[in-house]
Amino acid sequence: MVTDTLDRPLRDLRISVTDRCNFRCTYCMPKEQFGSDHDFLPRSSLLDFDEIVRLVRVFADQGVRKIRLTGGEPLVRAELERLVEGIAAVDGIEDIALTTNGSLLSSKRARTLADAGLDRITVSLDAFDDAVFMAINDVGFPVGKVLDGIANADAAGLNVKINTVVQRGVNEDQILPLAGCFRGSGHVLRFIEFMDVGTTNGWRLDDVVSAREIRDRIDAVWPLESLEPNYPGEVARRWRYRDGTGEIGVIASVTQPFCRSCTRARLSAEGALYTCLFAGVGTDLRGLLRSDVDDARLAEEVRSIWTRRDDRYSELRSSETVIRPKVEMSYIGG
Ligand code: SAM
Ligand code: SF4
Ligand code: SF4
Repeated sequence: MVTDTLDRPLRDLRISVTDRCNFRCTYCMPKEQFGSDHDFLPRSSLLDFDEIVRLVRVFADQGVRKIRLTGGEPLVRAELERLVEGIAAVDGIEDIALTTNGSLLSSKRARTLADAGLDRITVSLDAFDDAVFMAINDVGFPVGKVLDGIANADAAGLNVKINTVVQRGVNEDQILPLAGCFRGSGHVLRFIEFMDVGTTNGWRLDDVVSAREIRDRIDAVWPLESLEPNYPGEVARRWRYRDGTGEIGVIASVTQPFCRSCTRARLSAEGALYTCLFAGVGTDLRGLLRSDVDDARLAEEVRSIWTRRDDRYSELRSSETVIRPKVEMSYIGG
């Protein structure tokens, strides 16, 4: 097991399979920066599935147990099922999850993903009201179709969670409608504080609705009680509806950072390794992969990067760090 300078093991790997997306969420890929003339990665720059599976094997040997596929929108990558199948066959990998905007989650796709070995799916949904949702995704995509995607994933036997990023003055009025929608559905809805990832979304601390406020707003209507974490280091704080209609999670990435238990590495679609969501630079692994090195050499590189890791951006967040150059979330993977 490899540990970093703060004694954190390497347990989770988030893999961005593409930097492209069919949405233009205003807080993630604003149209002004991600317009029709935007230079997305060319196909030859992307890691192919064999390369990704090889890296997963190397990471699994270093202690990684959980894989999350993300992006961009991972379901725009053709034949993603083949990748899931490859990863599922790697010794040591215990859990494969996918984060998606849900727009391409047909019942067939959900079934083939589950058959390939996907365990869990997280569907992002930032509003229950169509007008609010369409203003956020900025491509006119309706809520109903995301709800269909969620139902398809559920029918395919996948464990489904819903993620909602809350922004002051944008969708804070959607907290209760979304909570109402998923109460009793069996799906855990998780609210996430809006973060200062990247440099294009114009983040300000004033735009953050704190986890505490989110919890209080729901508790005032549907009383909540605290739940123990499912496992040590779980990032979402869990709350259960006192009337037994399920649970919610609240992720206080800004107001109560959890860097001390952060065991996640991120691999960009072109094979750069990042040890923090807020990193400015990554380490290229594709070059090594495509040269003639063996797995032992790749493992040595991963170990050397992780043992030097001292990231704790959220704990140190200040007006000075917020403006420093950081990689975009659609590139590094959420
Ligand atoms: N396209 C997929 C999706 O939307 O689920 C996967 C990639 S997206 C970058 C992953 C997650 O990051 C989404 O749930 C999105 O809402 C979240 N996200 C993006 N920018 C964020 C920000 N500034 N603060 C908090 N969460 C953010
Ligand atoms: Fe696309 Fe997801 Fe970013 Fe929205 S949050 S623009 S769906 S990558
Ligand atoms: Fe992990 Fe970096 Fe987020 Fe801290 S700020 S929890 S180190 S990804």
